[in-house]
Amino acid sequence: MDMQCKGITKSGSRCKNKVSPEDEFCTVHSNQKKVSKKSKRPSNDTSKEQIESSQPYSPNVGSEEEVKREWLLFIIGVLVLHLMLRKKS
Ligand SMILES: [Zn+2]
Repeated sequence: MDMQCKGITKSGSRCKNKVSPEDEFCTVHSNQKKVSKKSKRPSNDTSKEQIESSQPYSPNVGSEEEVKREWLLFIIGVLVLHLMLRKKS
């Protein structure tokens, strides 16, 4: 059974391409899959201020911790990459 692509065409209308049930997007709009995933995480630059001013207990301490962890992983990744490149040359 074929399904309709969930992508949005340049003209702003729903894509009418048929896709297999396990694919939500056709090959033309497969890049929109990533975009929709990204939007799951809202840009908390502006919302952060609102939360901090309205709630003294600041529930986004966890998210700050998350950012720190992401940075650590990034730095580790760069270091590993450096070591790998060193070994090669
Ligand atoms: Zn499509």
